Amino acid sequence: MATNAFLPVARPWIDEREVQAVRRVLESGWLTQGPMVEAFEREFAQFVQTPYACAVSSCTTALHLALRAVGVGPGDEVITVSHSFIATANSIRYCGAVPVFADIEPGTFNLDPTCLDSLISQRTKAVLCVHQMGMPCDMARIVPWARAHGLAIIEDAACAIGSEIFWDGRWEKIGKPHGDAACFSFHPRKLLTTGDGGMITTARKDIEEKCRLWRHHGMSVPDAVRHASPHVVFESYETLGFNYRMTDIQAAVGREQLRKIPQIVSRRRLQVQRYREMLNSVVNIVFPEEPPWARSNWQSLCVRLPVLCDQAKVMQFLLEKGIATRRGIMCAHREPAYFQEPWSCGLGPGACGCPPGTCKRLKHSEEAQDRGLILPLFHDLTEEDQRRVVETLQEACARC
Ligand SMILES: *Cc1c(COP(=O)(O)O)cnc(C)c1O
Repeated sequence: MATNAFLPVARPWIDEREVQAVRRVLESGWLTQGPMVEAFEREFAQFVQTPYACAVSSCTTALHLALRAVGVGPGDEVITVSHSFIATANSIRYCGAVPVFADIEPGTFNLDPTCLDSLISQRTKAVLCVHQMGMPCDMARIVPWARAHGLAIIEDAACAIGSEIFWDGRWEKIGKPHGDAACFSFHPRKLLTTGDGGMITTARKDIEEKCRLWRHHGMSVPDAVRHASPHVVFESYETLGFNYRMTDIQAAVGREQLRKIPQIVSRRRLQVQRYREMLNSVVNIVFPEEPPWARSNWQSLCVRLPVLCDQAKVMQFLLEKGIATRRGIMCAHREPAYFQEPWSCGLGPGACGCPPGTCKRLKHSEEAQDRGLILPLFHDLTEEDQRRVVETLQEACARC
């Protein structure tokens, strides 16, 4: 029987396992960064096959610390994409540095490596590349280019837990460092959620040591260690730090969620394959590309609407039928927080001459935002639900 229950874009998969895990932490008497955070870090590192994992309060704070740890500071430039959640570009500005925006490849929604040569300057310090919506970006082209220019590489892997990239002849998880550090998000829109939370993975001991110190006010002794010591311990504050801690409550949820990731990812890959087949019948809908060297976790599925379709009208029609969607990923350079500033088009003050909020150099980024449509995709979404989404979308497009 077909039901017409409201279909959200995303919904975390939480059950009694997470509830019990939280209960145990609450009853233990130790609530913030402690043994659960440590265990979560160990299991996460094992899962993505990295030597070090450092848990923090969000991906935004993870990005801030990772950029700072590779030495990004005031006046430096960092090459990234505008077509991302605003936290990506914001993290660069937190360091006092300047984001320089590359355009994207329309098929994958990821940084177009052919833009890189035109964006480098004397001040470029790093590349902050994004695995957008879980689709691995072209690390095989970005990494050698950045290394040849002596730049650090930070991966915004906010959406990419469980995604894989073909590297050196085998499939590797995103988070196994292919650059200097990768940063994950545990916001409820991502596949693994702790409410809020983040993780930095790296193979560089110096980066992990800095991140550990800075996430906890620059304090020389973590308070769980001081608490457990049989001797009186006086801490010192070595450097300016932050309060970017994850709590043990969050980490306990994260550990349960991590165990579910293989199941979540394989279900999503199946659901996306189903969408692909069903959407074949909808004229002029463009499906995203998955390059042969990439296996997306499909954190979001963003299709492109036909040129003649009005995005807002299609979304409204679907919403009235009880189906939530989202437009394509935002572009930072089109937001007031950015277009009033000199870095809006990535060419430096006044260099590009485009009107505020538009940039001919970021054409594919803007098009992806304006024509993209993110469809409902979550663990409990049924084949029946998917058919309803596709049929309703077909109806909406027929009215364009
Ligand atoms: C969600 C997201 C972030 C921010 O993650 P938080 O954990 O909410 O700080 C950063 N970058 C990308 C690409 C994201 O999708």
